[in-house]
Amino acid sequence: MGRVFESLSAWEVMLWGLVFFGGIYLVFGAATWLLTHRLLPALGIGRVLDPRPLQPGQLRQELLQSGVSVLIFGLGMIFPWGLIQLGWAQLHHDASALRICLEILALVIWNDVHFWINHRLLHTRWLRRYHLPHHRSVVTTPFSTYSFHPIEALMLGNVILLPMVVHDFSFWSLLSVPLFSLFFNCIGHANYDFVSSVGYSHWFAASRRHHLHHACYNGNYGFQFTFMDRLFRTRLAADAAQRHFVMHERKRGRQEGQGAG
Ligand SMILES: [Zn+2]
Ligand SMILES: [Zn+2]
Repeated sequence: MGRVFESLSAWEVMLWGLVFFGGIYLVFGAATWLLTHRLLPALGIGRVLDPRPLQPGQLRQELLQSGVSVLIFGLGMIFPWGLIQLGWAQLHHDASALRICLEILALVIWNDVHFWINHRLLHTRWLRRYHLPHHRSVVTTPFSTYSFHPIEALMLGNVILLPMVVHDFSFWSLLSVPLFSLFFNCIGHANYDFVSSVGYSHWFAASRRHHLHHACYNGNYGFQFTFMDRLFRTRLAADAAQRHFVMHERKRGRQEGQGAG
């Protein structure tokens, strides 16, 4: 498969890139939506995290912004392909299963480091305006995953380029990055606590942590893991969003009181 990728023309790479990123965005998003809105609630597994309603037109906005990100990620496939054509990076064609597993593990860890750094930069005064389109989704959905400003999409989308120039990865290891990344991303934005019994720091509680990031804006910049937030002391307390929910309940109570009066 790696050899097929290398032999594609620039146009073919970009076309397949668009089909791939558009396809996984819709499939992963729809599957997570069905899982968290139908299947798991029906089975009594897990719970909704943020009880507040979506903003009017939020889903449409998320789909539109994600469409632009799909364009950037898809056309951007020209960069890893270009590195190989120029001889600046190479694919390892006969990697063993063990080698592929270790490469994926390394890329999973790198992905969290890369995401934390870029996400933290996006929360600085200078870059904040390019991150606000993502934070327009206060109550997140599985379709918030690619809902970025184009600058943010460019910053996050370059995750495999540096690893590619320092190591000859297998095609399959590199292909795993957008897949596991979107999988974790869907969990993070599902607004659903899948395993309520585990502690806040557990790997399975990633949706609780990213939900808090959207509810509180500052803190919890990590992706799937907590090591970067622990190292840089940017973790939010588990109950950090509670006051927002209390305010929401009070406001709703007042509105209902006014409606009754
Ligand atoms: Zn953020
Ligand atoms: Zn987010």
